[in-house]
Amino acid sequence: MNFQLIGLIFCAYFLNIKVPMYYFFPIMILYMVFNSSIGYWESWLHGIILMIFYISLNKLRRRQKYRHPFVCYMLMGTVFGGMLWLCMKIKFGLPMATFFEEWGYLIIFEALLFSYVGMILRDSQLKIKLLQFANHDALTKTENYAAYTAEINNLFDSSSKNKLDLSMMMFDIDHFKQVNDTYGHLAGDKVLQHVADVVHTVINANDPKVKLYRTGGEEFNVIFPGYDLNSTEPIVKEIFAALNHLDVNIDGEDISITISVGVSMISKKDTEPNDFYTRVDSNLYRSKRNGRMRITVA
Ligand code: GH3
Ligand code: MG
Ligand code: MG
Repeated sequence: MNFQLIGLIFCAYFLNIKVPMYYFFPIMILYMVFNSSIGYWESWLHGIILMIFYISLNKLRRRQKYRHPFVCYMLMGTVFGGMLWLCMKIKFGLPMATFFEEWGYLIIFEALLFSYVGMILRDSQLKIKLLQFANHDALTKTENYAAYTAEINNLFDSSSKNKLDLSMMMFDIDHFKQVNDTYGHLAGDKVLQHVADVVHTVINANDPKVKLYRTGGEEFNVIFPGYDLNSTEPIVKEIFAALNHLDVNIDGEDISITISVGVSMISKKDTEPNDFYTRVDSNLYRSKRNGRMRITVA
């Protein structure tokens, strides 16, 4: 019975599976018929306590802000476990020693289950945090070059296989070195943060599937999954207009910037993500060579 109870605790508390009330009775009756115990009042009592135990564990888990979760969990497990073993003791006339022994084992299993699941959760949360940290640019709160590389590799493969459109915009802030030289590096950092905020706002207002990455110091890439050049154009123009009219106020000074942009979409001739990237990059440098503050699409 202890293993059944541990299974029940795992489903109700740790997996937090909600079972509707009207499922409980048929399950309980079916179990008692199968078990030939439907004629015993102790079995009915046992079944009802099991139901209340399950629902209480569900509720305890859902109450987010309670202090000492381990104590509450153990208290509930100990009390219900004791009641359930008492039903068994009465039904089968178990000696007192067996009753306490089994109840004790249950309490130990419950504590072990709590610490084991806690350990696994902490480990997986740590892995998620490390992954986020590795893919995140702390200054602009965008994803970084590592995240960009992983994403473009995935999207390039799936777009080539499934013949889906994929476009990319790359932009670089014009004469950004001058911003640093004139206003200082900290002011430059604030401009970069502002740029990322503005682009996020434009993207979120259009399509959250589109994603911004900081791929270099003052270089950013925007990936448009499922977009061809026509559908990419309005968003690119919106980002371009928003950034070229951006005045970042730092210590009473308005710093204005312009950007140069390269845009392209995936082509059948591209054999690897770098072929696609190189085309976008050379379009950006054509914008630079042709006088900056412009968009080159090819
Ligand atoms: P261009 O128009 O040709 O792009 O000129 P540019 O000055 O923007 O380009 P350049 O490559 O000469 O300089 C880029 C500058 O970006 C130099 C570097 O100090 C600055 N930069 C790179 N990363 C950061 C950063 O995280 N913070 C700040 N404040 N500046 C950065
Ligand atoms: Mg630049
Ligand atoms: Mg640059």
